[in-house]
Amino acid sequence: MIIDSHVHMFPDKIAKKTLDHLSQIAQSPYHTDGTAAGTVQTFDRWGIQAGIVMHIATKPSQQTTINNWAASLQKEYPGRLFCCGTIHPKAEDALEEIDRIRERGLHGIKLHPDYQDFMVDDPQMFPIYEKIADSGLPVVFHTGWDPLSPNCVHASAKGIKKVAKLFPTLKIVAAHMGGMRRYDESEEELAGIDTVWFDTAMSFLYCQPEQFLRLCRKHGADRILFGSDCPWSRSCDEKEYLLHSGLSDEELEKILWKNASELFSLSL
Ligand SMILES: [Zn+2]
Repeated sequence: MIIDSHVHMFPDKIAKKTLDHLSQIAQSPYHTDGTAAGTVQTFDRWGIQAGIVMHIATKPSQQTTINNWAASLQKEYPGRLFCCGTIHPKAEDALEEIDRIRERGLHGIKLHPDYQDFMVDDPQMFPIYEKIADSGLPVVFHTGWDPLSPNCVHASAKGIKKVAKLFPTLKIVAAHMGGMRRYDESEEELAGIDTVWFDTAMSFLYCQPEQFLRLCRKHGADRILFGSDCPWSRSCDEKEYLLHSGLSDEELEKILWKNASELFSLSL
């Protein structure tokens, strides 16, 4: 069983346009057609059984529409696609939307500090973190470098650490091994904190194998999730990278699906 815990897709009508737009920002190619059907087909070729889909509202007005769509995706692809919902920190009803995300049966909440324009340790975010912690849902942050704002790291390992200390019951997923392309800082600041999970997304592209193994061992295989950031990296490449990283079979099984199944409360 392999669960890709970091996947993106878009409604059919806007998938191509959105991928072209994001691809231009990231100066990076994409590897699916961006639709749900296309991604599931591609997963079949790549040997991926299920995906956890990350949705991001880039405007306050989008959050409810996106979460409704996320809930419909889960119904359409039972056992294949599970979704994290989205809230926009500047939406007036952001706190209420957290309740609605739970009621819709979504499995977590994704926040992207770069695309949603906030610093991860900004006190204005604290009521949101408190409410998510109370909901019991995990929160997934994009962490580290991002091509949208390459000169400003909105979620540094230090910032995430501060949030983890202030909200000890908040289950935090620090995507991209705790900081994309800023793995030294992640190793120093975040590795080993037991309310933080890492996903492995983009490690194939950016993380040196020795450092990847060191980070996994220091943080602990119990709190690492296999992820790709598909369509921006191919799940099959990220999977091969992980399989050849030097981790034991027992560690790999946790990372490939067991941890995700437990953290996101999946019924597989
Ligand atoms: Zn992503």
